[in-house]
Amino acid sequence: MLHNQRFFNSIYGPVKSWRFGQSLGIDPIGAVSTCSFNCVYCQLGEIEYQTTTRQVFISTEQIQQDLQPFAPWDVDLVTVSGSGEPTLAQNLADILTAAKAITKKPLAVLTNGSLLTDPDVRADLMIADRVSVKLDAIAPSFSQRINRPLDGLDLGRLWAGLWQFRQQYSGILSIQTMLLSTWSDQQQADYITLMQRLLPDEIQINTPTRPKPTRHELDARGNHTSGSRPYPVRSLRPVSVEQLQIFCDHIQSATGIPTRYPQHQLIPSTQA
Ligand code: SF4
Repeated sequence: MLHNQRFFNSIYGPVKSWRFGQSLGIDPIGAVSTCSFNCVYCQLGEIEYQTTTRQVFISTEQIQQDLQPFAPWDVDLVTVSGSGEPTLAQNLADILTAAKAITKKPLAVLTNGSLLTDPDVRADLMIADRVSVKLDAIAPSFSQRINRPLDGLDLGRLWAGLWQFRQQYSGILSIQTMLLSTWSDQQQADYITLMQRLLPDEIQINTPTRPKPTRHELDARGNHTSGSRPYPVRSLRPVSVEQLQIFCDHIQSATGIPTRYPQHQLIPSTQA
């Protein structure tokens, strides 16, 4: 299903990312936010269209055209993310191949991992140099509460897809975890056990530092770290810097996997 994309530009940024440096964004989803999740902290606001069905939202030709004005693409990498879950784009492989040919830059895909049980999705992602997979919970009730996935996308299925992908993928695999509260000792231990089995190349622990827009704004695809916004937002309470630091150190010493958090974006714990 193609939505009305008349005033839509599929390229945004460059934005400064704490994870990747200077990044140019490709949005393969379009003007209507579309995802299999509806995370409580999502920067797109409440997701407008929840689905697990892959389809072409933005043609590869449009993305190729939209990339041209950004020449010579003087960025650290090109990230496919945008207005929802990028693996829902059926032309993801074509988009990645075209972006690589045009920009000659490393490519990253940020995904919630919900479609990784699909062999076609895993094959598409092989083209990317880096894939970041969201994993916000190790207990099903947490996942339901934080990610609010469509029926059938339970944690067992997500984990199975992620495990299959880990076996096949030779690029850089990151796990991205958003903390909305400090985890108990047991939750931390379970997470570490999972990471010891999965062995991603890196782990990124984050907490909501940006208020959540109450409705979908294309401007929110960028990386606003501070200042006022020209649209209504709702504040979220982040975990403190100290708690993130302790958890990151704990993970890294137990697993040996580089584990990072966005130090420069966070506020002192007295305000958290
Ligand atoms: S997976 Fe990403 S795009 Fe989808 S609802 Fe969650 S934060 Fe938003």
